[in-house]
This record gives sequence, structure tokens and C-alpha cells, in this order.
Amino acid sequence: MSPNENPAGSDVLTVRGLHKRFGPVEVLKGIDLDIRRGQVVALIGPSGSGKTTVLRCLNGLEVPGLGTVQFAEGAAVDFGSKPPRRTVSGLREHSAMVFQHYNLFPHRTVLENVMEGPVRVQRRPREEASADALALLERVGLADKSDSYPYQLSGGQQQRVGIARALALKPRLLLFDEPTSALDPELVGEVLEAIRELAAEGWTMLLVTHELRFARDVADRVIFMDGGVVVEEGPPSEVLAAPKQERTRQFVQRLL
Ligand code: ADP
Repeated sequence: MSPNENPAGSDVLTVRGLHKRFGPVEVLKGIDLDIRRGQVVALIGPSGSGKTTVLRCLNGLEVPGLGTVQFAEGAAVDFGSKPPRRTVSGLREHSAMVFQHYNLFPHRTVLENVMEGPVRVQRRPREEASADALALLERVGLADKSDSYPYQLSGGQQQRVGIARALALKPRLLLFDEPTSALDPELVGEVLEAIRELAAEGWTMLLVTHELRFARDVADRVIFMDGGVVVEEGPPSEVLAAPKQERTRQFVQRLL
């Protein structure tokens, strides 16, 4: 499988001045973000700092009040000009999200869960989508569970189905929203291992995580957010090992 078709090192995503408000509360206060092909970017920060909201805005699940989002080969979406709903949900063609609580369809089998996006959204032929889905399930070590239902799986297995489902969309960018934080500690490792393999294969990823050791191992860049702004960003050797900002230092000290 080829994760991305655009040339090495080119921009996959460019975000400028992203603002989002829920009622009176401004939760994103002007976020800029650049992700290049093959990069693994870890987004870290205290609870409530706006990390999930960033991912949801990129995936068309929230509509920012201001700012632009541009994926490679897509038109820039300028939220200041109040784009139509169709344009916002069109962002979803470029990325796929792995959710904290897996969000699998409970009444569909594992295989059907993985086929759903390709067949219903991308209108790909069923046989092709089914063969792809089986291959992806094999990759995440769950080929023998293809006819099971989500409730018959452990949390770690469900999350690996969530990863296979995201991969089935063949996105340019994978978005992970705290993919291990709902798991029992003994199940975290298998999911992190699956993500580590994707990183080694060259997938481009934006990963919200509290697993700072994991971020240190797999991320090319770490972004520390607090209070709706990016406080500091750079390679893990700087942001995690030698932070410049006091707020970053305090956060990292507590978790690393
Ligand atoms: P993080 O992922 O860093 O924990 P979030 O992006 O989930 O932060 O949330 C940022 C802030 O936005 C929090 O104060 C949260 O309560 C608020 N928030 C998130 N989603 C909504 C929503 N749908 N309605 C109102 N407030 C929200």
C-alpha cells in the first residue's frame, strides 16, 4: 500500500489562523499548523487545551469561525467566508480519524465496519472493498475476527479495527485522537505498536496523545498546546527533553 502519492517532503496540510468558539468560550485562538509528507506530529497539552477540537476541525466535524485549512491537492477552505456545509465535509476526503472511543458501528461486523467508508462514501465496488478490508484486518492481526461484532472484542482489538477502518479510506493524513486513553493499561501496548508500524511505513500522522514516551519515540515533531494556542513546537529532543517555555516544562515534567 502506498500511503501518499505526493512527493516526499511536500506539504500535506497547511493550517493558518484557526479560531473556534463554543458559545462565549474561544477554545482555539489562532492555530497554525504545517504537516509534511511522512511526518509524524504529536499534539500534546493539558486537558481542555483544544487538541481534539483541532482534529475535529481538520476532519470537518467542527466548523471553525475563522482560518484556512488546505490539504495537498485540495482547495484552501477559508472559514472566514462561511463555506457551504458540503465544502466543510469535503475536508474528510483527505484525512481519516481514529477516535478515542473507537466509534465502531455496534450492529455491523468487524469486516463491515472496515468496508463501510470505502463502499458508502467512496462508492468503491463491494468485492474490492471487502478484499482490501480483509488485508487490512490481517495487517492489524485481526483477520480471524472479521465476522465478529465489536462487543465481542477487547478494547485494544476494537481500536485496531478503528485503525484498519481509517486506513481503508486511503487518506493522505491519519488523525489519532488519544487512541489509547480509553484502554486498560495492559491493552495500550498493542495499539501503540500498530501506530509505530504505520509510522515506520511512512504514513503521515497527527497524533493527540498523553503518551509522552511514545511521542518521544515516534514523533518527528511535537506541538505543545495550552489554552487554545500553540505554546511551543519542535523536535522531541527540544520540546520534550529541553523545553524553552515554562508551561511546557511543567507539563512535560509531570508526564514524562
Ligand atoms: P483537549 O482535546 O485538549 O482536551 P478539547 O478540544 O476537547 O480539548 O476541548 C477544548 C475546550 O472546548 C474544552 O473547554 C471543552 O470543554 C470545550 N468543548 C469541546 N467541545 C465542545 C462542544 N461541543 N461544546 C462546548 N464546548 C466544547
